[in-house]
Amino acid sequence: LIKEKISLQELINEVIQVMQPQASLNNVAIQFNVHENCNSMIVGNANRLKQMFINLIKNAIEVMHNGGTINVELKNMYNKIQIYIQDQGIGIPEEHLNKLFTPFFTTKEDGTGLGLSLVKKVVDEHQGKIAVESTIDVGSTFILEFPNYTDYF
Ligand code: ADP
Ligand code: MG
Repeated sequence: LIKEKISLQELINEVIQVMQPQASLNNVAIQFNVHENCNSMIVGNANRLKQMFINLIKNAIEVMHNGGTINVELKNMYNKIQIYIQDQGIGIPEEHLNKLFTPFFTTKEDGTGLGLSLVKKVVDEHQGKIAVESTIDVGSTFILEFPNYTDYF
């Protein structure tokens, strides 16, 4: 897998542009909040990282049946880059939490159950971590963490 130095801030901006039409159709706004002085440089594969964020934002849009706002937040925690993707969707029942990243797990009539398994793969390819917090009928937050560029070598 070819990796290069990438600004996650720029990459996420591009993904949000790509997802904007689908979000608008569902009355969903996407907010992107980058913390001051955030260093979002990462060593990674741009196409894989884009696909990962597309899958997460697509899922967020699909569970917000009444519209609302997706909050994407980018910040540093010590020498790590953290990304929070928070939706105002239906939430995830506790008994589903440990199955989410399993290939073919889906609760959608026309779902493939492949989106989050790819997300997990891309996270692993970049020495990252992913966690989920969710409250039924309030929403879910996917929290990703990656080593930053300077830490990589
Ligand atoms: P698909 O979207 O095709 O169902 P995914 O792998 O992307 O497959 O997601 C698997 C399942 O995880 C979904 O069917 C849904 O039950 C749950 N899920 C994923 N993202 C969210 C989210 N943001 N809010 C609530 N449930 C989610
Ligand atoms: Mg999906």
